[in-house]
Parts: sequence; C-alpha cells; structure tokens
Amino acid sequence: MIPFRNEPLTDFSNEDHRKAFEHALNKVKSELGKEYCLIIGGQQMKTEEKIASINPSNITEVIGTIYQADLELAEKAMQTAATTFETWKNVSPEARARILLRAAAILRRKKHEFSAWMVLEAGKTWPEADADTAEAIDFMEFYARVMMSYSEKQPLVSIPGEENQQIYIPLGVGVIIPPWNFPLAILVGMTTAAIVCGNTVCLKPASTTNVIAAKFMEILMEAGLPDGVVNFIPGSGSVIGEYLVKHRLTRFISFTGSREVGLRINELAAKTVPGQKWIKRVIAEMGGKDSIIVDENADLDLAANEIVVSAFGFSGQKCSACSRAIVHQAVYDKVLEKVVIRTKELVVGEAKNINVDMGPVIDDQAYQRILDYIEVGKREGRLMIGGGKANGNGYFIEPTIFADVKPDARIAQEEIFGPVLAFIPANHFEHALEIANNTEYGLTGSVISRDRFNLERARDEFYVGNLYFNRKCTGALVGVHPFGGFNMSGTNAKAGGREYLLLFMQAKVISEKL
Ligand code: NAP
Ligand code: MG
Repeated sequence: MIPFRNEPLTDFSNEDHRKAFEHALNKVKSELGKEYCLIIGGQQMKTEEKIASINPSNITEVIGTIYQADLELAEKAMQTAATTFETWKNVSPEARARILLRAAAILRRKKHEFSAWMVLEAGKTWPEADADTAEAIDFMEFYARVMMSYSEKQPLVSIPGEENQQIYIPLGVGVIIPPWNFPLAILVGMTTAAIVCGNTVCLKPASTTNVIAAKFMEILMEAGLPDGVVNFIPGSGSVIGEYLVKHRLTRFISFTGSREVGLRINELAAKTVPGQKWIKRVIAEMGGKDSIIVDENADLDLAANEIVVSAFGFSGQKCSACSRAIVHQAVYDKVLEKVVIRTKELVVGEAKNINVDMGPVIDDQAYQRILDYIEVGKREGRLMIGGGKANGNGYFIEPTIFADVKPDARIAQEEIFGPVLAFIPANHFEHALEIANNTEYGLTGSVISRDRFNLERARDEFYVGNLYFNRKCTGALVGVHPFGGFNMSGTNAKAGGREYLLLFMQAKVISEKL
C-alpha cells in the first residue's frame, strides 16, 4: 500500500476546477428536497416524525427531510449494534481497513458533490467545503493504515522461557455523536475510527446537517460495510442521544461538540445502570477560546492575514477559530488597523457563490446567540467593524471586531462560535502568554513572532493542545497535526493521530510458559 498522504485541496483559481464544482452544485440542487430514512441493521426505516434540513444561506430552501428516531428505534439500533458486534469483532483488521479504503476511494470520486452538499446544507464556502471533504478522505485513509499497524506484532520485552504477545481488541458498542460544523470530516473520522477497530456503533448525527450524514451512509453501504455495523439514527440530541448514552449496552461514547453537552454526557455516562458490566469510556472533544499572540517584532502583514483567516473562516464556527487577538502594545494599533482593513474586504453572502468569503451561521439559535454576544461586546469593547446582521435571506452576520477588550470580559472568555473577534492589548510577551492561558479552554493557539526566545518560551508555556507558530490556528491536517485540546476543550483525543485508535480498543496480553 502506498504511504499515507493528505488529499490535495482543490485550486479554484483553475477554471476547469471551478466548472467541475459548479456542475456538482447543479447536480445537488436537482436532488434537493428528498427524504432520508433511518438505517438500522441495513434496513431503511421511516417514522412518524420528520424534520426538514434547510439551507442557512437561503432559509426557504429545503435541503432534504429526515425521519427522526424515537426511543423504540433507538433501542432497536442498540440491540442491532450489540448483536452485530459478535460477528464484526471477528472480521480481520485488514478486511475492516479495506472497507475504509474503499469508502475513501468512492468519496474521492464524488468529492465535489459531497462538498456541494455542505455548501448548501452547512453554508460552507467552496474552499471550506472542499477542505472538509478532503479531511474526511484523509481520516479513512489514515485510520485504515494505523489499524493495520496495530494488528501487527507489537514489541514487548522478551524474557527466557516464555512467549508474550500483546494484541488489541475492540470495546463493544459505541455511541457516536458528532457536531455540525465539520458535518462530513468529523462525522466520518469519529465513525470510521470506531468501526475499523472492530466496534459497532449507533450514529446520531447533528440535527442541522442530517442530509450530509445520510449521504455518507450511502457511501458506507456502497463500500460493502456489513449491515448493523453503523446504525444511523437521526433524532434529537437531548432525547435520543441521552437515551443511548445511558444505555447499559453502551461501552463507549465518542462525542464532539459543546462543553455544556460534553460535560452532561460525561456525567450521565459515569452513572452505572443495572446490568452494566463495564466503566463506560467517554471521549469528549469540546469547545475552544483560541488566541493568536502577536509579538512586537512580528511580520505584521502575516499576523493580520492569519488572524483574519482564523477568525472569519467558516464564519468563526470552528472549535479552532481565533476569537482573541492578543497583541503587544508596541504594534497593537498597527495590527488592529491592518486586520480591520482586511476584514472590510470580506464578501459576506450565499455560500454557493464562489466570490463569497464568509457565508451564514448555521441556524436561528446560533444567529440569535451570536447577535446577543455582539451586544455584550458593545459594552465590553470598542466596535471597530461589523456589529450586526448582514443582508440576505439567511443567517448572515457581519464579521465583527471589538478592540480594547479586557482579558476577563465575557467576549474574551466565553465561546461565541461566530464571526466575532476581540482585540486585547498586552504590555509585553509574558503578559500576552498570561492572557492567552487565562481561559478554561486549551484547544489551539498561535504565536506570530520573529523572536526565537519568545517562541521557545511559548512552546513550553502556551497551554493548548495544538500550538502554531507564524501561521493560522485553524486547519489541522490529518496525520500532520493530531488534534485535541486541554482542560475544558476535552479529553485530548488527538483525532487524526496514531493514538486516537487506542481510545476505541483495549489491549490483551497473552503469556505462554514454554
Ligand atoms: P452541540 O450542541 O454540543 O451538539 C453536538 C452533538 O451533540 C449534536 O449531535 C447534538 O445533537 C448532540 N447533543 C445535544 N444535546 C445532547 C445531549 N443532551 N445528549 C447527547 N447528545 C446531545 O455542539 P454543536 O453546536 O453541534 O457544535 C459546536 C461545538 O462543537 C463548539 O463548542 C465547538 O467548539 C465544538 N467542536 C469541538 C471540536 C474539537 O475537536 N474539540 C471540533 C468541532 C466542534 P442535536 O444536533 O440533535 O442537538
Ligand atoms: Mg441546515
């Protein structure tokens, strides 16, 4: 097998690529409004209740309608996963990995089509959607290879007169609860990591991006995944999600989403229920309040570019998004000015148009929450640009910057998850580090500096799971930047890294006296 390499991103300055993407968008538009079923044990199922997924760029456009699981079907999914585990766990790691490789190949062939679904259902711009699909492909290619290496003979110290062996076996039934913000990449990564290790799962996708999740189920089926390995049960997180988290047959929960829900799941999973035979394992990757520090001797144009990309890419709806620019007072005014000038140039509008830099936010709830935070910001800082709704028949918000924000202000502490950036002045570099470390999160961060000593200092003291120097704090690549944070950012799972798969397995050591 060829070594892993990251899927290349599409160059949209090339006219052929633009045409191909346009073609995919048109194809997807012709398929809007279909119905999507639950899939339990390979059987497509319809229910009484269904919800529409809408285009956040154009809220009267229905992307598709998704049947919703009730508790009875959630139970059926759990029982099916438990039964299927008895056979799936015995399928060889190579055979399991091959299904991921095949699914990756199918997705690669349908790359633009999947990205187009995300443009319409999640409001991703073309390049953001393209990167999401590429990352989904990467996860499958990477985890397939990592699984094969864990199935090889593992190194142990030998002692005379005994043969020793360490093998990795799956855990059991997992509940997979992904977020909507990387509706393909994160869902695919979380789901395929669990199944390549030999587990079976109940997958409850995020409610705002159910259609892209259903499209991925089509790929898994085409790739030949046996029935019952992934049971697809869209439904309300607080109803279906909690029911499954509390279930006695649940062996692990793999969650990515907000701090609030992650902590709730952790608490529920810790309570032993009658008939439960194990301690449930919780993998919870949660929010962030990520900073870019700009040092006094930094390349200020580089700093401004990286801040704008990190803060406003996908409308700031990334756990890794820069929501705080912490700038040395000597260059504070200049960096602020450069960032505001670049932000002014951003085109906000419907994600389907290639010239758009920033699309909408995901739904009405997010829209209201972010607009509320902007009002808080008006009391906590000096509004430099933006500050409200943007035009269009969707959830459009202007890219918004507040200057002179205090390190302990609400907009400097709470995850807003929208296009809102706080500028915070620092007296000196140590002060900047102190401010950067003052949140309860610890996901990503970046330092823009030309001072070796300060970079080394940040290497030791900047307390985040993913730290970047002289570049943006978003855009982690599978295999290159294993991803996961500290503190309230979650369990530091390091998705896209070799260790990630160990979270879905347990090691067994067999020693034979010779
Ligand atoms: P969310 O509201 O916490 O939802 C995440 C998932 O949990 C959804 O599938 C949701 O279902 C489900 N859910 C909601 N309430 C639940 C409950 N009581 N029990 C079980 N499941 C429940 O988060 P989000 O808005 O989708 O995503 C944004 C958050 O994810 C941000 O905080 C962001 O920082 C974080 N994030 C973190 C990472 C990382 O790697 N650390 C990566 C991406 C995103 P419904 O949709 O049906 O409510
Ligand atoms: Mg939607």
